[in-house]
Amino acid sequence: FEVFHLGNYEIHILRSMFLAVTDEAWVTLATNDTYALGALVLGHSLRRFNTKRGLVVMVSPQVSPNMRGILADVYNEVKDVNVLDSNDRSNLALIERPDLGVTFTKLHCWRLTQYSKGVFLDADTMVMQNCDELFEHDELSAAPDCGWPDCFNSGVFVFKPSEETYQSLLNFALTHGSFDGGDQGLLNLFFHDWSRKDIKKHLPFVYNMVATATYSYLPAVKQFGKDVKIVHFLGATKPWMHQYDPVSGKVSVSGEAHQHAHAYLTQWWDLFGAEVLPRMTGDYGLIDNIY
Ligand code: UDP
Ligand code: MN
Repeated sequence: FEVFHLGNYEIHILRSMFLAVTDEAWVTLATNDTYALGALVLGHSLRRFNTKRGLVVMVSPQVSPNMRGILADVYNEVKDVNVLDSNDRSNLALIERPDLGVTFTKLHCWRLTQYSKGVFLDADTMVMQNCDELFEHDELSAAPDCGWPDCFNSGVFVFKPSEETYQSLLNFALTHGSFDGGDQGLLNLFFHDWSRKDIKKHLPFVYNMVATATYSYLPAVKQFGKDVKIVHFLGATKPWMHQYDPVSGKVSVSGEAHQHAHAYLTQWWDLFGAEVLPRMTGDYGLIDNIY
């Protein structure tokens, strides 16, 4: 490799290429054992491509002790988060806005202030290549949403943990709400200048490639599909809802799916079969899906 600068900068390049960077982390969220299955595949996909960053999964009280143990095999930190541990003012306001529950849980990533930078990934994403270069981007960097590209999709974003930002987000949520009832609507209102201000904060689509869209730009898939870095199984039907045969390694997709989407689903299940299934001691509601 080439070294462009001398001094501290060179040392930093060497450090981040070969050693663990302990003050930066990938962060995901699971509020139940089912989403935790997604988090497990995601975690193993990050390990498979040798990330040098830490792995944090935020879990809410519903996640079983057994599942926490399995998560701890791949995540450096299994962090308990509870909407009810916010301050009293937000508790009171939350009672009037129960719809913001899961949204508030995701916002807890800003409280992980032991890290200087984080990349949040939805539990329904999977890494296809090493993506550690994402940590070179600033808050708030994200890829366009394929439904409305002037909004970013909040399934993958770069952020800077800060208690102050967390409190601002909380206050903003309580006063403005979210136009879609979820974290994406809230975050797009809060980071409202994302679409115009700084192109460096626009992550390429390959970092948040929607694999389940019923519409796809198929020639682009053919041309650029091999460059995909992160797949996102956005939408109601998640990978763990399909049927998988561990003997043949075949996934049978219920409903319509493009061939490329099917290939990504098969990769999700291959990783599940190789890394997650052998570590599972319960069925976690999945027994019907594996035959
Ligand atoms: N999530 C969760 N429990 C839920 C719903 C969502 O833990 O009941 C977390 C999980 O990390 C998930 C993210 O919130 O990936 C966003 O939800 P989802 O991926 O289902 O939304 P979509 O990407 O389909 O819009
Ligand atoms: Mn998602």
